[in-house]
Amino acid sequence: MRELRKDPVLNRWVIISSERAARPMNPFSVAPEKPYTYCPFCEGQEAATPPELYAVRRPGAQPNGPGWTLRVVPNKFPALSATSPALATDSLAAPGSENSQSDGLYQRIDGVGYHEVFIETPEHSQRLSSMDKTRAADLYHALKARLQVIKKDPAMACAQYFKNHGRESGASLAHSHSQLIAMPVVSRTLGEELAGAANHRIKTGGCVYCRILRMEGDSGERLITAREGLAALAPYASRFPYETMIMPMRHSSGFEDSSPELIEAFSSLLVDLLAALADMFDNPPYNLVLHTAPFAPGHEEAYHWHMEIIPVMARAAGFEWGSGFHINSVPPEIAAARLRKAMGNE
Ligand SMILES: [Zn+2]
Ligand SMILES: [Zn+2]
Ligand SMILES: [Zn+2]
Repeated sequence: MRELRKDPVLNRWVIISSERAARPMNPFSVAPEKPYTYCPFCEGQEAATPPELYAVRRPGAQPNGPGWTLRVVPNKFPALSATSPALATDSLAAPGSENSQSDGLYQRIDGVGYHEVFIETPEHSQRLSSMDKTRAADLYHALKARLQVIKKDPAMACAQYFKNHGRESGASLAHSHSQLIAMPVVSRTLGEELAGAANHRIKTGGCVYCRILRMEGDSGERLITAREGLAALAPYASRFPYETMIMPMRHSSGFEDSSPELIEAFSSLLVDLLAALADMFDNPPYNLVLHTAPFAPGHEEAYHWHMEIIPVMARAAGFEWGSGFHINSVPPEIAAARLRKAMGNE
């Protein structure tokens, strides 16, 4: 197959060229852990991180000490920080505020925001793909809780949750963790998705993601599984081999509005999907990114939250950087069929 396909939300073209699949695939695999001497995320090293914002602990265990299964702490080396210049909300900058400056062409805003780390397990070598599902659910209950807190800060526009697994995905520490960065501006990708979704709504009156769910449900070609109110599918214009996405089947714009039951079902589906990828590709590096509506109201009808799961099989090279287009050597129909089989949903 050689085909150009356009993403229905982003109007972004990709080149699907399965002839290129003959080239070596999956050069990356996350190596087994080397013996280590020190890790700031391991149980017993709580003093190495800033004080925790949220934790799941055994009854009687003291905050910032051992006895936890999940901790959320501020990043020690934050990309953005809520504490500079001061904690006072009225000193935080938003576009148009006094901390936002423009000098002709150039615009700047103070680097205020939140940068938090979710330490997903006290055990150094535990992976999310084989994590107990109750613990995985604890992680996403925590994400919901932190989003609900940060959303109250009027200076924040949106938050990006992400996970890097393996060095090739950008992870700097091997101990399983994920991160949340809240920003005073809407992220570029979210802005593009919002614009695409709003456009679709103006033209048709409906949600583009709900329409995708209906089409994928009808054809079944790219659907990996649908269960407990969620669907996992391989996007029509997938940029990367085995790129997948999980979406709630009932329209919902904000992840933080999910019921506890939906969060449990979501965590279970995510773990099963990551386990299938780990089996198929010998523990590949991957990135998770959550796309959820910005904090200001107005996107409830048009936007639909989703998690994107992107295995790292090859590095972006000159063509990708130069054109902004990706060449994908695995058609999403084939990726979905293989993932269905690996998950026992044939
Ligand atoms: Zn560790
Ligand atoms: Zn929808
Ligand atoms: Zn997205």
